[in-house]
Parts: sequence; C-alpha cells; structure tokens
Amino acid sequence: MTSNEERPGSGRRFQRALVTGGSGFLGSHVCDALVAAGTAVVCLDNHCTGDPANVAHLMGHPLFSLVTADVSEGAEVAGRVDLVLHLASPASPSDYARLPLETLAAGGPGTAAALRVARRDGARFVLASTSEVYGDPLEHPQREDYWGNVNPVGPRAMYDEAKRYAEALTTTYGRVHGLSTGIVRIFNTYGPRLRADDGRAVPNFIRQAVADLPLTVYGSGDQTRSLCYVDDTVAGLLALAGSDHPGPVNIGSQEEVTVRDLALLIRDLTGSRSVLDFRPAPPDDPRQRRPDIGRARRLLGWSPRVPLREGLLRTIAATAERPSLSRAEP
Ligand code: UDP
Repeated sequence: MTSNEERPGSGRRFQRALVTGGSGFLGSHVCDALVAAGTAVVCLDNHCTGDPANVAHLMGHPLFSLVTADVSEGAEVAGRVDLVLHLASPASPSDYARLPLETLAAGGPGTAAALRVARRDGARFVLASTSEVYGDPLEHPQREDYWGNVNPVGPRAMYDEAKRYAEALTTTYGRVHGLSTGIVRIFNTYGPRLRADDGRAVPNFIRQAVADLPLTVYGSGDQTRSLCYVDDTVAGLLALAGSDHPGPVNIGSQEEVTVRDLALLIRDLTGSRSVLDFRPAPPDDPRQRRPDIGRARRLLGWSPRVPLREGLLRTIAATAERPSLSRAEP
C-alpha cells in the first residue's frame, strides 16, 4: 500500500490525468504515484529542466504516454482527461534565473493552456504553486492567509510573480467557468532525481560532500528552510487533487533547519571531510521559511511522515546509484 492510499482526502480515483512538467523532479514522482494508483497519465514536458530519464522506467507502460511539447505554446492533448496537474516550470533559483522569460511563460500562458484543457473536459485542475509566493516572509510560520513580501522587480520576481499570477488566473478562471480548481503551495522538496546541477542546497551539498569538496554555504548560513521528502509532497498534492477544495493549501515539512546545519548534517550522513565555504548571500534570499500546515491537516488529513535524516539518507543512496548526479561542476 502506498502512503497516498492510506490518506484521507485522496479517495477520489481518476481515470486519466494530464501532468505538465511530468518529466521533472517532482512531476516524475507524481506520474509514478498516479500510474501505481491505476490512473492513465499523459506526461507533457519540453525538458527545459526536466529529463526524459526521470520517466524512462514508465515508457512502454500501458498507462503512460509522454508528449514532448511546451505547455506555454498551448497543450494539444488527444482524448479526455479528468485531472490536470500543472507542474511545468523551472523551480530552482538558478534555473529560473537562467530561463526567466520561460518561467514567466510557464506561469502565464502555460497555466492558461492547462486550464483550457481542464475546461474542455470538465476535469479537476490543480496548480503547483510555491512558498515563494510569500517572498521573504515577515510572518512566521507562513499561513495561507498571509499575502507575502515579494519584490516584483527583484532577481526572483520571474518565479514568484509567475506563480502569484498563476494562482490568480486559476482562481478567477475556475470561478468564471465553474471549474473545480485547487492550489497547493509547495515548500522546499527534495529526494531522488533532483538534478545534480540544479543549484539547490540539497543536490549541491550532496554532490560536494561525496567528493569531499567544500560545501558552498551562501550568506551566514543562518537562513532557514523546511525540507519535505518528495513522497510526502506528492501525497499532499494528490490529496488536494482528490478533494474538491480550492486551496491554497501549504504542503511542506515542519522540520525547520538552518542552511548551515543542513550542510553539516549532509556532511555527517555522507561521512565526508568537506569544509564549509561561506559565499556571498544571493539578493532577496528568504531568511526564514516554514509552513503552517494546519489547513492540510484539517482538510486533507495530510502531514509529512519522512524525517529529514531518513529522507536525506534515501536521497544520498539514490545519488550514488545515478552517477550523473555527481558529475556537475562544484
Ligand atoms: N544555498 C546555499 N548553498 C548552495 C545552494 C543554496 O547556501 O549551494 C542556500 C540558499 O541561499 C538558500 C537555501 O540554501 O538560502 C535554499 O536554497 P535552494 O536554492 O535550495 O532553495 P530556495 O528555497 O532558495 O528556493
């Protein structure tokens, strides 16, 4: 039995789902969970940050098909779906800095195209939004009714504002067209299949630690994040999909750690001799982040189950099995 099948709020079964961004880190785990639950999956991805290798094990499965296309240019999906999950977007700060206009397009025209498919078929629609809608938060922990502290012209604006617009579009489109829509705000998630070169803290520290290279801590390292193991995140997302709730619902871990402690923990778990290498802090880097998950607990019966240490051990083990993950530059 998968963890998702045990959870309240995920009782509704879907026949056929469109997953945009389905070849990405999170998307590929969502495809796995849906196929395991007997839902046919159309995975649509342009592979700008996703990787077909993430779904290679699903190729040839009768419930799985892969469409290589950019949802921002319109989603051509043959045949009816009863669930649309819009996950397509660069999600790592270095990826969305490298692909700024693509990131805005994924949130704007990409969300609109995915919503049109849902409307065409009367499908349930779920947007994968982000804790970044809270920006550098002035309230802690972050509740869904906090409106956030986002710099609209800063270096993270293309992602934060794309997701904020996507939330507004989802909500408004659903209201205007009588569509069942939901929004999950996903906090930092980690696990197997994170790209080694995606620039985020967990893959960077693992890659550096296993090679005994210095661990690059940005700023003082006192900034915090709450890291959720990918299986828990997927279960939360699918629990909201299986409900009729519009959200937004925070999905994330309660285990808040400083970035410095995260680096030290990964060093310990890998048995590494790496030293900490403090680098300048990136501008607008949020100083603290932890979700209030009261709403997810109440509405979906969801809370994360995998402790940070355990999740990191699984991620480190998966990294060792996929040699490409340790090849990127430091
Ligand atoms: N970070 C770091 N070293 C790295 C990568 C990231 O110190 O090699 C920091 C980053 O500045 C941020 C935190 O780790 O404070 C989480 O960054 P990440 O890119 O993983 O996710 P974010 O929450 O910023 O989207």
